[in-house]
Amino acid sequence: MKYIYDLSLEELKEVLKPLNVPQFRAGQVYGALHQGVAVENITNIPKDLRAWLKEQFDCNLPEIVREQISKDGTKKYLLAYQKTDLIECVLLSQNYGNTLCVSTQVGCRMGCRFCASGKNGLVRNLTAGEILAQVLLINRLNTTDKMRGVTNIVLMGSGEPLDNYENVMRFLQLVSSPDGINISARNISLSTSGLVPQIKKFADEKTQVNLCISLHAPNDDLRQQIMPVAKRYSIKELIDAAKYYFQQTHRRVIFEYSLMMKDGQPFNCAVGQARELANLVRGFQSHINLINLNPLNFDKNAILTPPSREVAMTFMDAVIKSGVSCTMRKNKGDDIDGACGQLRLRHLETENN
Ligand code: SAH
Ligand code: SF4
Repeated sequence: MKYIYDLSLEELKEVLKPLNVPQFRAGQVYGALHQGVAVENITNIPKDLRAWLKEQFDCNLPEIVREQISKDGTKKYLLAYQKTDLIECVLLSQNYGNTLCVSTQVGCRMGCRFCASGKNGLVRNLTAGEILAQVLLINRLNTTDKMRGVTNIVLMGSGEPLDNYENVMRFLQLVSSPDGINISARNISLSTSGLVPQIKKFADEKTQVNLCISLHAPNDDLRQQIMPVAKRYSIKELIDAAKYYFQQTHRRVIFEYSLMMKDGQPFNCAVGQARELANLVRGFQSHINLINLNPLNFDKNAILTPPSREVAMTFMDAVIKSGVSCTMRKNKGDDIDGACGQLRLRHLETENN
């Protein structure tokens, strides 16, 4: 059954044409759906039309399986599509607005060693409407007289967005469309583990979306040890693709770099590696976002661990002294199953036991 949230306004108009309902009905339905109103509650349209829509389409937003609220106000939701397909999304409140971190796939097939989302591989791609449904649901739950709902979106939940290219592009169109919730592309960030051809293709779409690239290592040898995708594309190719993105969009690219220790020694966060990292991107309009590795709660024998604050700060200083723009991101919502994917994984594991 087709998912109603996959439709654009134009497509909904086409769908309603044979019913001979007035033209403005499509706009009413679309507007209400995108405000998070359930079909049965769209009371300004005839009852028959509501019933017909429910017969023809899957009109359900995902179900909330669990909700966790962190001491810092971060809210984390475990959501299910069709009862079994679990994803997470996280709402972070900042003084400039509310950022929702959405998932683009159920699971992920990239297999990064430090990531819970990829641990059991890819289950399936989410459709554009299913990605949008996360925003609509969280908006419905969090918009009050005092709160504005979602103002910014990051595609940083489970899944590799550029491995689900067509659906993600369509999601970007739907969510930024003036017919719907109209979140500007400049307020959206997409994070990729580094699929070079897709980055170039995305650059050619010339959106104003912020591109983030998960780099996590200052050279190919180290990167290959933690990210299988690094065997397909070298860091040089990746940075060339990032430069191309900048050339096409004039948006500054962000490199994400999670600081990790291995067997108690700096894996990617020694001072020499800070210089190596800076050398990769110096002179290019970019920014490095450091974050401490979220402890791998899903792996009891984890050899990768986060560094001390001192090691992290020394690393950041060394990058900045090497002439590159760099900041440290706080690990928000640490007390509630850390990084994206961990809540889902824990849920799956408890169910299996
Ligand atoms: N698949 C995309 C986006 C989702 S992950 C990507 O990989 O870029 C969002 C970010 O969190 C990525 O930079 C990812 O590398 C990082 N990440 C995943 N697990 C982490 C962990 N345990 N600690 C710190 N960062 C992690
Ligand atoms: Fe997939 Fe990103 Fe996790 Fe890597 S870090 S496994 S690409 S979700």
